[in-house]
Amino acid sequence: MPIKTVPTPQLIFEKSYPGRIGCNVPVCDTPEVDLQATLGDLREDLHLPEIGELDLLRHFTNLSHINYGIETGFYPLGSCTMKYNPKINEKTAALPGFANIHPMQPVETIPGALDILIGVQDMLSEITGFDHITLQPLAGAHGEMACLMLIKAYHEARGEGHRHTVFIPDSAHGTNPASAARCGYDVKSIPTDAEGNTDVAALEKALEGEGGKNIAAFMLTNPSTLGLFEPNIEKICQMVHAVGGQVFCDGANMNAMVGTTRPGDHGFDCMHLNLHKTFSTPHGGGGPGCGAIGLQKHLEPFLPVPVIRRNESGVVVADYTRPHSIGRVSAFYGQFLMEVRAYTYLRAYGKEQMAEISRHAVLNANYVRARLKDVLKPAHDRPCMHECILTAEKYKKEHGVRALDISKRLIDYGYHPPTNYFPMIVPECLMIEPTETEAKETLDAFCDAMIAICKEAVETPELLHDAPTTQIVGRLDETKAVKDLDVRWKFADTRQPVTV
Ligand SMILES: *Cc1c(COP(=O)(O)O)cnc(C)c1O
Repeated sequence: MPIKTVPTPQLIFEKSYPGRIGCNVPVCDTPEVDLQATLGDLREDLHLPEIGELDLLRHFTNLSHINYGIETGFYPLGSCTMKYNPKINEKTAALPGFANIHPMQPVETIPGALDILIGVQDMLSEITGFDHITLQPLAGAHGEMACLMLIKAYHEARGEGHRHTVFIPDSAHGTNPASAARCGYDVKSIPTDAEGNTDVAALEKALEGEGGKNIAAFMLTNPSTLGLFEPNIEKICQMVHAVGGQVFCDGANMNAMVGTTRPGDHGFDCMHLNLHKTFSTPHGGGGPGCGAIGLQKHLEPFLPVPVIRRNESGVVVADYTRPHSIGRVSAFYGQFLMEVRAYTYLRAYGKEQMAEISRHAVLNANYVRARLKDVLKPAHDRPCMHECILTAEKYKKEHGVRALDISKRLIDYGYHPPTNYFPMIVPECLMIEPTETEAKETLDAFCDAMIAICKEAVETPELLHDAPTTQIVGRLDETKAVKDLDVRWKFADTRQPVTV
């Protein structure tokens, strides 16, 4: 396996020479203003790099090449669904009619935009099986919180505002307890059984007596963060409903189910989606997120405003007259241009092909699982959904190599590592989500690298402990980075004037 070392780039200050300039400013033909006198406290000691235009261009172009992204390589970061974001999404989002409208424009002037919003809502409604969708939440975690706010309003409207506990499985994503706490709820952890399912007996016990009286909601991820479909989902929903609780579905893993099965039919009351995962809008640095939510009829009165809906004559309106609404959860209509991208994606595939997305996502994850199972043990002995959860426990016990070391070594092989140590209930966990957009050759090359690294773990474990050694930064002190973060570059003027 060829390992290529990335040269350390020079910092822009190190390329700087006094007097070099990147542009030609014409000689001033108007009286010069004394900026210091006009503006007051201008800094005189601000060291800016002095560099020519071409060198500046090369500097930023080279930096951009060091950046790792879905468009440079395979990105198997579990739970994050790092799939390809088709370029056609960008084309439609850039159409002037979409890109140039202003959120303060009178609503009568944006019927086309409202059509896009209701189009996305209708398609998501059909995909999830929920009666109502709102596109307003700006991230997955924000969607979780919006759902809990709806649930809270629902309980209060029924005179059950005393319900103060939210149940969450011990495998859940960290945003779940954070959202519950943000809404003022106490969190109760529900264990996972040996097969990787919700421990139904433990849930039954937790719902007895006071537990059942005080439960506001159960937040359940399906497929779970163990990459497994929860087989008891209908029973769990019935159990929680029987004591007056609501059931929320963390739908960040919807990429495993699009077009094949619908959470709205499983008994859930509401769910969130990550359009920046399942529906191919960009992730993180690539653009703002969207955490659309779906809900059943009984939660509809509490929807955030504006509610985008068809009026009696079939005209799409933005409805603000909602006496029971929880209010706004974001400014204006949500991330409008992300909705344009999601609309494009949904229409480009169409209803018939939607199921192919999830089938291929599941197939790819099971392929990786099968190819790696002899070197990295799957956490559970059953087929996975869209991601596979493996454990490196054996290497830790026998060779002192941790999951983190394997991931760091993967960087040397040119790959973005999978998710590590999540879910927390799996020791030395590696969570691999290949997504449907990767070719078999890519999966094979990645699996070959993983197998080679596992061999190294046995024969030359020091290679893994030291990794990464080929990149511009080595192993960072993660504890210190959290406790004492300092990303400033300190200016030390070592520049020599150019002598001609
Ligand atoms: C990504 C994710 C979330 C949170 O989504 P954000 O958009 O990052 O806030 C919640 N739950 C699960 C299982 C996730 O994978």
